[in-house]
Amino acid sequence: MQANKRLSLIVPVYYEEEVLPLAYPRMKAAMEKTGYDFEIIFVNDGSRDGTMKILRGIAKADRRVKVLSFSRNFGHQLAVTAGMDQAAGDALIIIDADLQDPPELIPDMVKLWEQGADIVYGKRKKREGETFFKKFTAACYYRLLTSMSAYPIPLDTGDFRLIGRNVADVFLRMREHGRFLRGMSAWMGFESVPIEYIRHERAAGKTKYTLKKMLKFALDGITGFSTKPLTLPLAFGGVVTGLSLLGFLAVLICACTVGAAAWLWGLCGVCLLQGVVLLCLGVHGAYLGRIFEESKGRPLYIVAEALNTDFASEEEK
Ligand code: UDP
Ligand code: MG
Repeated sequence: MQANKRLSLIVPVYYEEEVLPLAYPRMKAAMEKTGYDFEIIFVNDGSRDGTMKILRGIAKADRRVKVLSFSRNFGHQLAVTAGMDQAAGDALIIIDADLQDPPELIPDMVKLWEQGADIVYGKRKKREGETFFKKFTAACYYRLLTSMSAYPIPLDTGDFRLIGRNVADVFLRMREHGRFLRGMSAWMGFESVPIEYIRHERAAGKTKYTLKKMLKFALDGITGFSTKPLTLPLAFGGVVTGLSLLGFLAVLICACTVGAAAWLWGLCGVCLLQGVVLLCLGVHGAYLGRIFEESKGRPLYIVAEALNTDFASEEEK
């Protein structure tokens, strides 16, 4: 057993009665293989099936298992957040309950953490047993998100990851409501190392991410991580205004030489007005984006290491 260090495994669960009896033994075996003392935190995200009955049984038999049960469904990202709030480990590992992320990878993730990585994120080199629609939309979405985000979010990654205590402490300071954990992780920086794996088919049961939930999650990702859509009218407005002014110039030249129909003036006027309206919208968007960023109340900076100084974070001061 590794001296004094402890690991926390965080597992969000939502209607997973079919998968839990398969998942828990594999998770426990993987955690034991690391050689560290550990806890497994299951967060029941408002399931009303037999999930809690199974979790009560597991917790009774194994004191290392902690269970939090939500009063209703708050969503996967908040279930993981509750697990992080509760975790006491020096490293936290986040894993889905459905065994799509293989628990057997955990000892290797822990080794990379021992070698100095602050974040070890699972990178899917292949996705098995998922529909073409899901794979296609996921591939397009992650690429769109990366192009929109100011902080590159690694492609084809999910929330299956290990984070060190230093990273977990920053997560605890970020209390924004619209949570998109993989993006928050990208924003933080730190030494991040990928670990490739094949994402298997669900061990049992069906996906709990309905199309509606997926769309909300996708929108949360974009709106939570980029204010670009808000300032898009600024670019459009600039182009439309510029073109209309050129149009005016062209019509003026025509009017002085071969003559120009009156409706051309009207057309240019309407386009110019539209351009100005778009510009104004973009300016509003730019301010709104600033308010949005401020409202998150994120730390202003994150110190990863401090030498020869009694560094105290902003909150401690
Ligand atoms: N989950 C959750 N709350 C939800 C939806 C899902 O806690 O509202 C859990 C679910 O039990 C699983 C993980 O989040 O452990 C990922 O969900 P799922 O496997 O259904 O998503 P997919 O892998 O199909 O994207
Ligand atoms: Mg899944």
